[in-house]
Amino acid sequence: MLIETNKVVTFHYRLSEPGTEVLEDSHQGNPVVYLHGHHGMLPGLEDALAGKQAGDKFTVTLPPEQAYGVRRENSQQRVSIKHVVNPAGRKIAYKPGMVVQVNTNDGPREVVVVKAGLKTIDVDTNHPLAGKTLTFEIEVVDVRAASAEEISHRHVHGDGGHHH
Ligand code: ZN
Repeated sequence: MLIETNKVVTFHYRLSEPGTEVLEDSHQGNPVVYLHGHHGMLPGLEDALAGKQAGDKFTVTLPPEQAYGVRRENSQQRVSIKHVVNPAGRKIAYKPGMVVQVNTNDGPREVVVVKAGLKTIDVDTNHPLAGKTLTFEIEVVDVRAASAEEISHRHVHGDGGHHH
């Protein structure tokens, strides 16, 4: 079965910047599952996955525009520590370079700590991978037809997807 709109795709990936060590490796955890054709995946990756099938392995290098976007200037903000997502509720020692999630009007998003104070932290709201050219080593694990319910919800249900 070929990857196209309304197929549920499961894949493993290794992510690196060209010429650097691996930044993320899904083989250490669960593969990624997404519904093809519904903007649930990086645009460049979705384009590269189209037409592939289970068992296919390939490498694709994406410029920032097709991955996590270009870096925006003036994107530092001071955030109250109480807006940092901290499910365990433990005291966290914030340090520059640390990636944290903050609650925003658009929901939680990942930001990078620039400077840490007692009650506030200064963060860069660019995605941690913004501005980077990224190489993905992809292994397609599974391709299946989405259910009518998944298509109407525009996301995957079950393993790796939404449970509701
Ligand atoms: Zn749903």
